Amino acid sequence: MFGKYSPFINAGIALFFGRLSKKPFPWYVNFFITNKCNLKCPYCYAVTNRNFDSATAVEGTSRSKDPSLDKILEIIDGLYSIGTRYICLLGGEPLLRDDLGEIIAHINAKNMLVGLNTNGTLIDRKIEVLKRLNKLTISLEGDKEKHDYDRGKGTYDKVMQNIRLLKEKKFRNFAIQMTVSTATVHSWEHILEFAREVGCTVLITEVACRPGESLESAKFDKKELKSFWLRVNELKRRGYPIENSFEAISNVLKYSDYIGPFQILKNIDTFPESLQNFTKHNICPMGKYSAFLDSNGIVYPCATLFGRRGYDTKRLSIKKAFELMSRDNTCKCCRMLLNYQLNYLFSSVNPNTLLHLGWHALRKYNY
Ligand code: SF4
Ligand code: SF4
Repeated sequence: MFGKYSPFINAGIALFFGRLSKKPFPWYVNFFITNKCNLKCPYCYAVTNRNFDSATAVEGTSRSKDPSLDKILEIIDGLYSIGTRYICLLGGEPLLRDDLGEIIAHINAKNMLVGLNTNGTLIDRKIEVLKRLNKLTISLEGDKEKHDYDRGKGTYDKVMQNIRLLKEKKFRNFAIQMTVSTATVHSWEHILEFAREVGCTVLITEVACRPGESLESAKFDKKELKSFWLRVNELKRRGYPIENSFEAISNVLKYSDYIGPFQILKNIDTFPESLQNFTKHNICPMGKYSAFLDSNGIVYPCATLFGRRGYDTKRLSIKKAFELMSRDNTCKCCRMLLNYQLNYLFSSVNPNTLLHLGWHALRKYNY
């Protein structure tokens, strides 16, 4: 009856009643459907093999064989049965899967929302399949020099060409994801101009911080990072198509003095009292209403903890693994929590943020 809006309505109702019940459920799942990638970025989080810190949690390994199509469809059914209404397909590079069309069609048939994140180099090969997505997100790192340095010679031009192709084919439901790092913090504004030209939005995130790791690209100068987010705020006010809500930007700015890259806070005593109400219970909502499921069937609360503290859905069942994971998350705050836009749907229910996200969803939905 509601045609193309039906998956949005379905997802909205499920989230509304799920939140009312106060029981955790994985409404939004990032699902890694392949380990393979045609690129080799030095900071790739798909390559993980780290320690774990819980009796039932397992160590992540991500260079194993990809799951079969049957296994993926079975997982999608399992996720639906425990309340998932939005699946974002990730990799590796998900466009490398020959059966991608069947995977998307299966999610469509269940009336769930489906998104996909890609490095953008293979879009021209799968353009018809991508029309069935509710959202397509393409990574673009800074300028040509920086992008090609990290992702390989010629990749920047190829991605730009493919994004123009999306415009030509009249896609509206796509976004550029720009991950700010020490290398890109001064060379990103051209991406906003480009987004305006092709009619898409830009989602800005920071390099995922992982305590204990030494990642050159996340060794920001605090002042520099603050000026960056102030500039983001100013450009958004001037009408540039920035997806991050004003609430997200303002929280990054407010908390920047108390939490830097590589820090995960387990208590928030170091925050001034006025800032301690970030979430209703002062606990990060990731892992409660969203999850990351890797291609080995291990579920994690978020990308920062990817490969560190996961639960094995094969050993425990999807339902049990999610239940244990949602109880195990004792984190309070980190940089990812602050700049990961969807957290604002799962934590402080702010009407402005809901309107902002709703507007973005409807504006981009054209199939
Ligand atoms: S494009 Fe993405 S998945 Fe592929 S190597 Fe780079 S970061 Fe990893
Ligand atoms: S605070 Fe939240 S986003 Fe940050 S590491 Fe913990 S679970 Fe992940």
